[in-house]
Amino acid sequence: MSSEFEVIERYFTRCGAQRTDVPLGVGDDAALLHCLAGKQLVAAIDTLVAGRHFLPTTPARSLGHRALAVNLSDLAAMGATPAWCLLALTLPRVDEIWLQDFASGLHDLAQQHELALVGGDTTAGSLCITVQILGHVEPGRGLRRQGASPGDVVYVSGTCGDAAAGLKLERGELLPSQAMDRQFLLQRFHFPTPRVALGQRLQSFASACIDVSDGLLGDAAKLAAASGCGVRLDFAAIPISEQLENVLGTDAARQLALVGGDDYELCFTVPASKVAAFERELPADRWQYQRIGELLATPGAAVHRAGTVMPIATGGYDHFSNA
Ligand code: ADP
Ligand code: MG
Repeated sequence: MSSEFEVIERYFTRCGAQRTDVPLGVGDDAALLHCLAGKQLVAAIDTLVAGRHFLPTTPARSLGHRALAVNLSDLAAMGATPAWCLLALTLPRVDEIWLQDFASGLHDLAQQHELALVGGDTTAGSLCITVQILGHVEPGRGLRRQGASPGDVVYVSGTCGDAAAGLKLERGELLPSQAMDRQFLLQRFHFPTPRVALGQRLQSFASACIDVSDGLLGDAAKLAAASGCGVRLDFAAIPISEQLENVLGTDAARQLALVGGDDYELCFTVPASKVAAFERELPADRWQYQRIGELLATPGAAVHRAGTVMPIATGGYDHFSNA
């Protein structure tokens, strides 16, 4: 069986992209990183706990991907450019096949985003994966949850609810008829796509932005509240995939899209004065986003359907409210 040092050397010393701004990466007491003059450093961290964030059946490759994807999504929501990450890994045992798959999931996504793994920590214990990500943004150009105003148009990227359905499938709570639909939804849960390029392009147009991790309605409500506004979402405009619609039917698919978690799409607002330029310069068919509602002066979050307010209870996922 390998030692801690062999695990680090074998799987994490050459993981992700090689960057010229890393004079010293994995192997010393700490990494040395060359920061770009005049930029703001952007930092985020996220933990995946076995039994909390994933099931024992979740493939290791997916865990490597997701541990990084959730962090990339946070940087995307800031409009930032990712550069470096660190990995704190707690493992019950050294399982070479698991480690190989985990590391390759992380490596492939890191390569796609030119992100270097520059350090971390490896310990024994119950399976727990923490990734910290570092990136940069031009001062004053970072997107925040606050900054939007009443009348701003609300958008979301991609489709929502797919990952929540994927989780239900993995748990055996959903039995779809088509293998293709099942495959797609599981893929959306196991391998979310962080919208990093979109986040960066939104710098010029968005008044506020949040990544959708805890359910679209709850996260849109967080953005609105941070901006001192309320929000109205239009049920008929909530984007759902054809596959989710096949499995659940249109209505239930939209309901799940509003409250399901793990989408890692971007929910953002654009002031009415910039909407035309935004939709012209970033065409919706190429950038995959949809107008879903509007910010309001009165607080609260509501979903409208054919002129009436739908009763939907959600505050988004909270680790301590349902423990
Ligand atoms: P220290 O005792 O100084 O904390 P470690 O033995 O924990 O050093 O780590 C040795 C080197 O390996 C450090 O550069 C550390 O950042 C890196 N490292 C440890 N675990 C990981 C990991 N899971 N992924 C990436 N780098 C790691
Ligand atoms: Mg250490």
